[in-house]
Amino acid sequence: MNHAGKIGDLLERISTLFRNEVRQAGLSHGLHPVHLEVLFYLNRCNQFSDTPASVKDFLGATKGTTSQSISLLEKKGYLLKTKDEQDKRVFHLSLTQAGQEVATSSMPPPSLRQALSRYGDDVSSQLTQQLEQLLINIQTETSHTGFGTCKTCKFHRTENKQTFFCELTQMTLPTPHGELICREHVVPDAG
Ligand code: SF4
Repeated sequence: MNHAGKIGDLLERISTLFRNEVRQAGLSHGLHPVHLEVLFYLNRCNQFSDTPASVKDFLGATKGTTSQSISLLEKKGYLLKTKDEQDKRVFHLSLTQAGQEVATSSMPPPSLRQALSRYGDDVSSQLTQQLEQLLINIQTETSHTGFGTCKTCKFHRTENKQTFFCELTQMTLPTPHGELICREHVVPDAG
């Protein structure tokens, strides 16, 4: 089997185990995997990406499924809807303390946490970089735009330790926001 075959095989096995664990984590809170996906996403997205339409696009789900999931999570006290200050037709979604607790305790799944704890910082850091690069390469191959980690975006410019500049929105943002998912993310040009 060539490298692509082996890597594909491994990723498939890892993602199956991953999905099974997420399903188990959801059951303990009375949630389906799609509900947990909404919580994970809202716990990781930035201020340009926290609308119901962004959740729908990120999940690749229908409008109906997304809005049912949002209503259920709101009813369970896991998320809040807030009207946009400029455009009252738009809602922003945010997690409550309870929603954050479910999201952070379920992701990453405990087995992955345990497995990664066997690595030193150097190996974990190399693995992170390689997976980030693999994700960028796949996004480039599939011409996928949006929903990438901000710090890997074409428009991300580091200013100093505290802030970076987003060339798309023309805003200066705090450095930790570089770790968040953004729907406007664009993969940098190759080379
Ligand atoms: S730099 Fe890119 S990913 Fe980050 S906020 Fe700006 S558009 Fe979004």
